[in-house]
Amino acid sequence: MDFTLPESALAVQRGIADICARYDLDYWQRCESEKRWPQEVWEELGKGGWLGLAVPERFGGGGQGLLELAVATETISASGAAGGSAFTYVLTPGFGALTLTRHGTDRQREELLPRLATGELETCFALTEPDAGSNSLAITTSARREGDEFVINGQKIWITGVQRAAWMLLVTRTVPAAEARPRSHGLTVFLVNVPEAVAAGRLSFQPIPKMGANTTPSNMVFIDDLRVPAANVVGEVDQGAAVLWDILNPERVLLAASALGGAEVALRVAVQYAKEREVFGRPIGANQAVAFPLAQVKAKIELARLMIYKAAWSFDRRLPCGTEANIAKLTASQAAWEAADAAFQTHGGMAYSLEYPVARLLADARIGRVAPVTEELLLNYLATQVLGLPRGF
Ligand SMILES: Cc1cc2nc3c(=O)[nH]c(=O)nc-3n(C[C@H](O)[C@H](O)[C@H](O)COP(=O)(O)OP(=O)(O)OC[C@H]3O[C@@H](n4cnc5c(N)ncnc54)[C@H](O)[C@@H]3O)c2cc1C
Repeated sequence: MDFTLPESALAVQRGIADICARYDLDYWQRCESEKRWPQEVWEELGKGGWLGLAVPERFGGGGQGLLELAVATETISASGAAGGSAFTYVLTPGFGALTLTRHGTDRQREELLPRLATGELETCFALTEPDAGSNSLAITTSARREGDEFVINGQKIWITGVQRAAWMLLVTRTVPAAEARPRSHGLTVFLVNVPEAVAAGRLSFQPIPKMGANTTPSNMVFIDDLRVPAANVVGEVDQGAAVLWDILNPERVLLAASALGGAEVALRVAVQYAKEREVFGRPIGANQAVAFPLAQVKAKIELARLMIYKAAWSFDRRLPCGTEANIAKLTASQAAWEAADAAFQTHGGMAYSLEYPVARLLADARIGRVAPVTEELLLNYLATQVLGLPRGF
């Protein structure tokens, strides 16, 4: 067994760390408080070729897999972006590029992948609805076939990055949930041209005020008689579940990686403060009450990282990775939360000052425990699918 990262992943780590070293915690803090996209970092990642990491080489990308994407995400997050802003990297290089590479038609790949690889085009992913979050198979956004087109109606919530997205990966029902056997049947995923749909008055969106992660807005989305060509179906009609699992497992892994990076930032600032801040004539880190929670977080970070790499490695080999992806997401999100909480306690009253990054890290870390999947749903998966316990819902 070899625990060293492959050279491809080490090169990603070095290349992205070089760029991110030019953007400190204050930069990310400003982006968050000004609610603005980290355009400078985005452009540098594009110039370096890092946005097309998972796009096949024949479409102008790096030809890498989920492992390299996870390492990239962790590196950006750990540099100071933390979980909320590292989401920037997940939407297009992650969901968009990976999904089209695996499930896009030749035409979709030829048209979109080269432009996703340069950062010219961005994507967003729309699954959640006001009445279907954890119970995502209960979505009611419907797509009805009419000749060579589908007519789509429905409402989505929390859809992140719609403002910048040229294309939305939209999950619909072509068979209503009540009639679908099994329940995962009858889902269809579409590529929707967002600017065209908005210009035609068929799609509108409204940002949701958020407690953090404000570098990328999240939105209510309204879809009204939107006509989409049948050629824009990703995967097969009614068989969208196959596409969805290949979005949701990488999503868990990449958001675990971004949470992990957030945990690393929180631990770093806490350790530095614990070394520098003196109370009763000695650094506060000399007190085990301060040091042990930080040491505990260090252990959890290392454990979560192993599971993230294992899940990504399995996905890249087309091995089952659901259990690993769920464990990675659960443990990394918990590590991020515990790290941010420990950093908060270590900073004492100063944690509450917005001059320090701790409040942002705490708000960021909290999202990971409920999105894109809640801790309870991850535990439900482990309890029922892995341990074989009876399902209570
Ligand atoms: C910042 C942010 C960005 C997001 N971005 C996107 C995006 O880009 N695209 C997208 O599609 N979605 C996005 N989401 C939505 C996210 O995926 C959902 O919020 C998440 O799946 C939880 O769904 P819900 O909010 O409806 O919670 P609910 O499903 O209403 O759950 C509420 C609570 O009940 C618990 N619960 C429910 N059922 C059970 C059960 N059987 N057992 C135990 N506990 C249970 C849950 O664990 C949770 O604690 C985003 C959310 C946030 C906060």
